[in-house]
Amino acid sequence: MIFFQFHPLASLRAITALVCVALWAPQEALANKPATPSKHNQASPRAPAKAQAKPKTPARQGADAAATQPEDLRDLATWCKTIVPRLIGMPLNQCLSSGLAPGDGRSVRGVPLWLRDAAPPEGTASLRVFVLGGIHGDEPTSVNVVFDWLESAVKTQDSVIHWRMVPLGNPDGLLRRPSSRTNSRGVDLNRNFPTDDWSRDAHAYWAKRTGKDPRRYPGPAAMSEPETQWIQGQIEQFKPQLIVAIHAPYGLLDFDGPAPPPNKLGSLYLDQIGIYPGSLGNYGGTMGRVPVITVELKNARQVSRTEIQAIWRDLLKWIDLRLLPSTAAQVAPATPAAPTAPAGPTTLRHSGGLDSL
Ligand SMILES: [Zn+2]
Repeated sequence: MIFFQFHPLASLRAITALVCVALWAPQEALANKPATPSKHNQASPRAPAKAQAKPKTPARQGADAAATQPEDLRDLATWCKTIVPRLIGMPLNQCLSSGLAPGDGRSVRGVPLWLRDAAPPEGTASLRVFVLGGIHGDEPTSVNVVFDWLESAVKTQDSVIHWRMVPLGNPDGLLRRPSSRTNSRGVDLNRNFPTDDWSRDAHAYWAKRTGKDPRRYPGPAAMSEPETQWIQGQIEQFKPQLIVAIHAPYGLLDFDGPAPPPNKLGSLYLDQIGIYPGSLGNYGGTMGRVPVITVELKNARQVSRTEIQAIWRDLLKWIDLRLLPSTAAQVAPATPAAPTAPAGPTTLRHSGGLDSL
């Protein structure tokens, strides 16, 4: 009896594990892979060593077992049980009770992109804020942060802020083994947004400034990736007046766009390190004239709830000071990335090699 109770479960687990390995095996053979992977030559003395190595032997190279299971990830419980083990110390229940819903976007591999709004009664919001985590799949703490902030936003009854939160912009990258910065076609989604300088600069920058670092491949064309298309569509539809993108592990704040930037959120200080072709900061802030705060946590795999909440509290204070009605006139209307938007800079701003955001 014990055998028959145990054995089917063990078999099920083994089958599940095999399916997961097959499903999330790196797809090195897929199209659009950078032609010449090379060493990361952008190392900075203060850049923590990130896991950049590719798996030596991709399991089932070129396998395509994603035909059915990603659709199952439209179910919150299934999605949570799939992603939570890849996050850092997040209770499953926090995901199950998040109230997230699958959006109409899918990753390359068909995994739904989830979101939730937290808003005061219709017509009473004073500010729309879009929060994005996990656009780089190997920065799981950025996902934790959005889950935590979502919980806080939902609990805040007297808020005048309409939040739209997307905890995981790159599910394929998170679910790869090991997790990857890029999506499953090897594209850095934060270099794939349709900035004015993309056609001219994205590939040149990638080649000359990163040495064709495969972790920073901008894609064959701007907006070539479904994840980027969906995020950009969310921005166009939601028309945020502030975008907050969470990353790790450089331990700083970057800022693009109008309004005086925050000098400090939690223990993170402002250090505007650069504008990159195809980045969300360039797209939303420089082109769209919407303030974009890029939060670079200090660690991609470890973050305390104390720090997450300290950043949240300071963010709310900065919003209150700079963006809410008494000062909202300082902020340009939200017209992100309209074709007629002012052009971005003609020269790249760069600060000595740190290239992460
Ligand atoms: Zn990042």
